[in-house]
Amino acid sequence: MSTLEIKDLKVGIETEQGHKEILKGVNLTINTGETHAIMGPNGSGKSTLASTIAGHPRYIVTGGEILLDGENVLEMSVDERAKAGLFLAMQYPVEIPGVTMTNFLRTAKTAIDGEAPSLRTWTKDVKGAMEKLRIDPDFAARNVNEGFSGGEKKRVEILQLELFKPKFAVLDETDSGLDVDALKIVSEGVNRAQEENDMGTLLITHYTRILRYIKPDFVHVFVDGHVAEQGGPELADRLEEEGYDRYLAKA
Ligand code: ADP
Ligand code: MG
Ligand code: MG
Repeated sequence: MSTLEIKDLKVGIETEQGHKEILKGVNLTINTGETHAIMGPNGSGKSTLASTIAGHPRYIVTGGEILLDGENVLEMSVDERAKAGLFLAMQYPVEIPGVTMTNFLRTAKTAIDGEAPSLRTWTKDVKGAMEKLRIDPDFAARNVNEGFSGGEKKRVEILQLELFKPKFAVLDETDSGLDVDALKIVSEGVNRAQEENDMGTLLITHYTRILRYIKPDFVHVFVDGHVAEQGGPELADRLEEEGYDRYLAKA
C-alpha cells in the first residue's frame, strides 16, 4: 500500500496586488485503493490544490508538506512526480504539434517506467484500452489533443491512466462538459484503473453527478482554501440536496 499525505498545506500566488493566499492549511491522507472526492463551491481552491500537487510553477507553497510514502513531493520536478506514481491530468492538456498520440503515449510510458514497454504487449495494451474507452482507432495517428473535443480530451486522459498505471490520480473536474454516455465511459475507466491497479483517486468536482458512477469512500467539503468537513458517501448525498450554502454562511 502507498500513501499520499497532504499536511497543513498553504499555497498562494503572486498577483499585481501582492501575495494572495488560496490554500489555508489543507490536510488530507489518501491510501492506494481509496477514492476521495473533494467537493466545493467555485473559487474555493480545488484546482489550486490539484495544480500544486502537479507542480505548476505559478503556485507558491508557503507552508506544509506533500508526502508520497514519506518522500517529499514538493521537491520533485514534474517528471519525477510522474515517475513516483502520481498521475496529474493537467500535465498534458496542451496540443503538441507534430507528435502523434502513439508516440506521445510510448514516450511518456518509457519516461515513467524508466524503460521502454515491450513493443508487442504495448501495442496490444494501447489498442485494448482505446477500445474499452471507445476511442476511434484513428486517434492513434493524430497529433496530441489537436482538434480534440472536450469529451475526447477527457477520454484520452483516462487512456493515459489505464496505460501508465499510476499509484494516485488527481482528476480535476473530469466530469465537466461530458454528456451522460461519455461520463459513463470515463467513469468506468477510472473504476477499472482503481480495481485492476489498486489506484488511489482524488476526484475533484463541483457537482455530485459523477459520484453516481464513481463511488467515493470519503468525501471532503472544500471551502475557502481548506477542508471544512469530512465524511463518507452520505455527505455527497447531503450536498446534492442542500448545496454549499451552510458552509458559505460560516466561511
Ligand atoms: P476552484 O477550482 O475551487 O474553483 P481555484 O483554485 O481555481 O478554485 O481558485 C481559487 C481562488 O484563487 C479563486 O479566487 C481564484 O480566482 C484564485 N486563483 C487561482 N488561480 C489563480 C491564478 N492563476 N491567478 C489569479 N487568481 C487565481
Ligand atoms: Mg473553478
Ligand atoms: Mg477548479
